[in-house]
Amino acid sequence: MNIILIGAQGSGKGTQASLLVQSLGIVHIASGDLFRVVSQEQTELGEKIRSYLDKGELVPDEITVQMILNRISKADCASGVLLDGFPRTVAQAQALDKGLQGAGQYIDMVIYLKVPREELISRLSGRYICQAQQHVYNIYSNPPKVPGLCDIDGSKLYQRSDDRGEALEKRLNIFFTETIRLLDYYRAENRLVEVDGEQAIDQVHVELMKIIKNWDRSPPK
Ligand code: AMP
Repeated sequence: MNIILIGAQGSGKGTQASLLVQSLGIVHIASGDLFRVVSQEQTELGEKIRSYLDKGELVPDEITVQMILNRISKADCASGVLLDGFPRTVAQAQALDKGLQGAGQYIDMVIYLKVPREELISRLSGRYICQAQQHVYNIYSNPPKVPGLCDIDGSKLYQRSDDRGEALEKRLNIFFTETIRLLDYYRAENRLVEVDGEQAIDQVHVELMKIIKNWDRSPPK
């Protein structure tokens, strides 16, 4: 089963994605995580990607689409993927549909985790991520047991530089002007489900699992 999870920065998308892939046995593909890994490399591509990430701007489609399609084509994705952070524009969504079609696959469903902008800003001000595996914490609502360290792997927690100031503003603006248009794209094909992301983490997960289990998995017309 191939699922897209759409949600703004701070919507709980990464947390829900981790829970869903565990429950469904599919592969979590987070475009931001893939880019953060490449951006650490001392290569021309690494440097180029780093410049977009630092500014909170979208990496060009020719790099992004190819990276995701390559990842989906790997053997471990045969039983399905959960895409997180991709697509972010209608052009990316169209390129994804085309790429999957060529491989005899399609997106089964698209989930939008809905959270108002004011709530997102307040959540992001407390968001910390572990260096080793990007486990997500919130120092107010979901703090680690030992301050500054990941409960799961013990690595140090850090605040992303693009979770602050101008870069954050820019990322939220892109979401609410561009990414939001994806909803119409997928709604028109009856592939979209909207879920209230202001509920507790467990509640959102239970609701998502219920929806996924009852979903009609026929290919898009
Ligand atoms: P995220 O962790 O999803 O917030 O992504 C971090 C950064 O990676 C974004 O601000 C972009 O610079 C880049 N990025 C992630 N996904 C995409 C995408 N689908 N298209 C273009 N750039 C992306």
